[in-house]
Amino acid sequence: MLEKLISSINSSILDSMKKIQLNAMGVVFIADEESKLCGIITDGDIRRAILNGTELDEKVSTILHDEYTFAYEDETYEEIMKKVNQQVRIIPIVNKEHQIIDFFKFKSDVFFPVSIPELNGNEFKYLIDSFISTWISSSGKYINQFENDFAKYCNMDYGVCVSNGSVALHLALTVLDIGEGDEVIIPDLTFAATINAVLHANATPVIVDIESDSWCIDPDEIRKAITPKTKAIIPVHLYGQPCNMDEIMKIAKEYNLYIIEDCAEAHGARYDGKLVGSFGDISCFSFFGNKIITTGEGGMCLTNNPALDEKMRIYRDHGMSKTKRYWHDVVGFNYRMTNIQAAIGCAQLEKINLFISNREYYENFYKIVFKNKFFEFQRNNLPKREKITWLVSVLAKNEQERDKYLKNFKEKGLDTRPFFYSLGIMDIYKKYLFSNKNSLEISKRGLNLPTYANINKIKEIEKILKNII
Ligand SMILES: *Cc1c(COP(=O)(O)O)cnc(C)c1O
Repeated sequence: MLEKLISSINSSILDSMKKIQLNAMGVVFIADEESKLCGIITDGDIRRAILNGTELDEKVSTILHDEYTFAYEDETYEEIMKKVNQQVRIIPIVNKEHQIIDFFKFKSDVFFPVSIPELNGNEFKYLIDSFISTWISSSGKYINQFENDFAKYCNMDYGVCVSNGSVALHLALTVLDIGEGDEVIIPDLTFAATINAVLHANATPVIVDIESDSWCIDPDEIRKAITPKTKAIIPVHLYGQPCNMDEIMKIAKEYNLYIIEDCAEAHGARYDGKLVGSFGDISCFSFFGNKIITTGEGGMCLTNNPALDEKMRIYRDHGMSKTKRYWHDVVGFNYRMTNIQAAIGCAQLEKINLFISNREYYENFYKIVFKNKFFEFQRNNLPKREKITWLVSVLAKNEQERDKYLKNFKEKGLDTRPFFYSLGIMDIYKKYLFSNKNSLEISKRGLNLPTYANINKIKEIEKILKNII
């Protein structure tokens, strides 16, 4: 293989091109008569040369450049791994005389996505059971079981399964009669589903800033943004961190506002010992593939109010009367979840506490690896707040540093995500912005690291990180 990677310094550009064509590696090492390395030509170099008008029969030496990557034969695996990435994948190895004696190829098949669902419990068993039962639509025992068990897990009376977390928010707004002319206060830093639900309900979102320490909606900003039209607040327990629920509930009482908790990223987190999702009039959960527990797609609304529970069931099912079939009193939706999805959800719920502790394990692991040097980790010592780890969330020093890490990690096979953009900077949401000072900064500095409910991947991730830091 090595000879297919080497071209003579006296050969033409065309010869190098042929070599690259034959070795299918995208590069060729250029050597002199004594096999000494003179440089490296990539298919990109040749393409650029052609575009610059260079003739293909010119000597390859005319397009050689000084910047190329190589390694000495006595370098360790770790040292060599530091030199390669998804872009620079094949490098020559030389001896002391600078003669090419070998090459190193970076395997790009190592890839750790930000999230992998953990489906190794009873998921498949219950899934098959629901399938065999033929109850594959939105009735069946798993729907009832999942609603009851998840509500119980969150210390709530009623659970209503829905197709996803986004429609859970929309359903909650609908049954609280929030619509045209009403204002709903939401945080600037959140996934867009939060604001979209408000807009789909024909209400007006009011985007307010977050606290710099918790990254969650700032109660002081909520107070400033309240008008006679304000009807509700949607606190989002962002990246597993609970909002300041004491203050938010106080404001709700004072101004007679509804609270819809967006718990899509915080199953199992607590504020003052109480689970998130047990504070508001209605709380909304997501069971998307990367959330704490998953049903593939799916969501749930929880409430302690029997009238709201009843109303949500009616709206979820086309607004159809529960006593008179095909009789519709309200214009509803089809927001139902299938029994198949609920079957997966029931199996996931059996292991939710293990998932949460394994995710926390990842966070502690990253803290040890990075040793306070590279990132500021999400706070886990704020008064009354017991966060959970959704995706490990950290802040880099500034935006450039953050973007550098995103790029480096991806090149080495670790998928990472930037934080959500500030809603207020996007054209479609701009006009709803009230304040976003902290959010702007946090959004630019934040990134999420791969975080799984299964700790088997830690050793491999550690190996990769050692080549980066
Ligand atoms: C994931 C998410 C949602 C939406 O949930 P889907 O099930 O994907 O529709 C809503 N809000 C927040 C904060 C989320 O992270």
